[in-house]
Amino acid sequence: PRSHIGYIEEDFLAQLAEEARTKFGVGKVADYIPALAEVEPDQFGMAICHRDGRVQSCGDALVPFSIQSISKVISLVIAMRHADEFGLWQRLRQEPSGMPFSSLIQLEREEGIPRNPFVNAGALVIVDILVEKIFLILHHMREFVREHSGNRSINYDARVAESELRNTSRNAAIAHLIKSFGNIHGDVNRVLEVYCHFCALGMNCVDLARLFSFLASAGHSPISSQQLLSADQAREVNGMMLTCGLYDASGSYAAQVGLPAKSGVGGGIVAVLPGEFTVCAWSPRLDANGNSVGARWALEKLVDYLGRSPLG
Ligand code: GLU
Repeated sequence: PRSHIGYIEEDFLAQLAEEARTKFGVGKVADYIPALAEVEPDQFGMAICHRDGRVQSCGDALVPFSIQSISKVISLVIAMRHADEFGLWQRLRQEPSGMPFSSLIQLEREEGIPRNPFVNAGALVIVDILVEKIFLILHHMREFVREHSGNRSINYDARVAESELRNTSRNAAIAHLIKSFGNIHGDVNRVLEVYCHFCALGMNCVDLARLFSFLASAGHSPISSQQLLSADQAREVNGMMLTCGLYDASGSYAAQVGLPAKSGVGGGIVAVLPGEFTVCAWSPRLDANGNSVGARWALEKLVDYLGRSPLG
């Protein structure tokens, strides 16, 4: 294994960005939200934020994209910071679902208790908790990502948020079903509005690698110099990412890549090598499970290059 704190060879990164072009054409951009279907598909970027906050990047690492389900990690982290944790894990579980992200089947069987915070059902419960606990939650969320990624210009993409809100019947069905079991307390429309805005945050690979750098550093952000979670909590988030972060491909991803990670249908995947760095890879074309083809390929290449993962 290579020792690489602060220095993954620049040649490796440049070559990766070049080789990623050969994956262009494989898979297709998410089109169930009209505004996402308009993204130029043949793009690839990657950024790595080391423990000391230093960033290395390649390709389209500065092009903003819709973070989509990667926002589920941010909302979980904010909930862990503000809610009583015992109460939190009464309302949702920490188990992989083995189901597509917007599935309703388990919810009915399991009486409105979502499998984990990274499927839509779980994220909607988390949003309900945040709406109840935090005044001006959309403002709070935006300030949180701006402060801890060090980029004050990050914002919601209003077009994407509106486009999703107009096409969110399935999430509405999930939220109403959960509410019928009493596990959403607030107004369903408000929960959906906040959830769709979270998904519509526009960020680039560098922003995301920096924002999540605390997950590689026992909860401490080298960007804002703040302790965002305890070391135990950071480990817990990494564990849920490893087991539940890539929709119903989480198992094969854990076996083949082995880094805690979370993907979104905007084509981004954030992954963590605890103790060393956080990486964000992005390419808009998705495979059948909704994971970015190019980003997953790049993370596999990175783990090959390092010669190890947290799993050995
Ligand atoms: N906004 C998406 C939805 O709820 C998030 C999907 C995702 O990235 O997994 O349908």
